Amino acid sequence: MNSINYDVAIIGLGAMGSASAYHLARRGLRVIGFDRHSPPHDQGSSHGETRIIREAYAEGVAYVKIVQRAYELWSELEEESERELYLQTGGMMFGSDGSDMIAGAETSAVTHNLTFEKLSMDEVRQRYKIFNPDVDMTAIFDPRSGILYPESCVEAHLELAKRHGAELLFGQPVGSWDSNSGSVTVRTENGAYTAQSLILAAGAWLPQLLNGLEVPLQVERQVLMWYEPIANQELFRAENCPIFIWDTGPGIHFYGFPDMGTGVKVARMHFGDTSTPENLRRDADADDDAPVRSFLEHFMPDVPGKLVSSRVCMFTNTPDEHFLIDLHPEYGNVVIASPCSGHGFKFASAMGEILADLATTGKSNFDIRMFGLDRFNNINEQEIS
Ligand SMILES: Cc1cc2nc3c(=O)[nH]c(=O)nc-3n(C[C@H](O)[C@H](O)[C@H](O)COP(=O)(O)OP(=O)(O)OC[C@H]3O[C@@H](n4cnc5c(N)ncnc54)[C@H](O)[C@@H]3O)c2cc1C
Repeated sequence: MNSINYDVAIIGLGAMGSASAYHLARRGLRVIGFDRHSPPHDQGSSHGETRIIREAYAEGVAYVKIVQRAYELWSELEEESERELYLQTGGMMFGSDGSDMIAGAETSAVTHNLTFEKLSMDEVRQRYKIFNPDVDMTAIFDPRSGILYPESCVEAHLELAKRHGAELLFGQPVGSWDSNSGSVTVRTENGAYTAQSLILAAGAWLPQLLNGLEVPLQVERQVLMWYEPIANQELFRAENCPIFIWDTGPGIHFYGFPDMGTGVKVARMHFGDTSTPENLRRDADADDDAPVRSFLEHFMPDVPGKLVSSRVCMFTNTPDEHFLIDLHPEYGNVVIASPCSGHGFKFASAMGEILADLATTGKSNFDIRMFGLDRFNNINEQEIS
């Protein structure tokens, strides 16, 4: 049985764990990380070729400073890893004037003095032939929006974490951990490892690793579809097509990406069954295709040609769809990291820094109170599953 001392252990080396490993190792700390698979992989929440990054953040003004730090860190990571990780395409957000998407994006942009445009539907049609919004919709253009390549981002963080001295063990599921008098012991089939602090970044598997702490996290099946456009193929290439998000009614959101050579990728947000990583239905079928296709027929009629491919992924949702980031209430040296609810990837570079700070000092320079556990105190027990 191994018994080695580390400064920080990390369970899960996907988007958040890989970024944490990188930041901690870069600071010269002794880091050990574990993953049940071999990241980047297609079994969790960080696969599928592309992720949206945007600055005029509809989900809340508090996210803007964090995403701005994330942009800086993605750019530094591109330089250090010599990889292309981000492509600026601009982003179009559509909805009615008071919708969550439009009102939220505009509030964030105005509060943080961001560059943005509010466009009438005539202006949209003049600029982009591919969009067919309803006349009573409005649109916001966020010029800094674009695409991150998630598999490359994870790979870059892992590669550089290793180069800075992190020990990363793949194919090694952590079975259990415990915390005693200032140190944490993590157990796999191969041994026990002790560290001063622990980051739990296990994505959809996180609820199984909280040592009895009940948190209202729910895993949701999310399906991604790639379509071959029927017409105007060249207008869907990244140089002509921004990322797009449509708020077509209360709680109804679709989003998508330009054609990166594999088709136009589109998905409906928060439309999947509640699941677990073990029971997830990993194939897509006609029931997944139908609502996306009918949205496209109305709002982007040149898109819904042949369904080229599909992938199934997992969201880990909180009830208010804000992230969960906090110290474990019983163990001050254990960090709980679930920046997901379907919108966490863009922040991963900054989350690595935040989680590294929490693991080493118990604090962050960012105001992360809205991500704390105490907001769930009033949720009654039946809602926790
Ligand atoms: C389809 C889809 C589309 C999305 N689109 C966007 C988007 O456009 N923009 C955006 O910002 N966000 C988006 N998100 C959200 C974003 O991708 C997630 O917030 C992010 O990937 C979560 O990262 P994570 O590190 O928590 O999880 P993961 O990357 O899944 O990492 C968790 C890791 O933990 C490992 N693990 C689990 N249990 C154990 C164990 N016991 N021992 C060791 N290792 C373990 C797993 O193997 C896995 O590698 C999307 C998510 C999905 C699913």
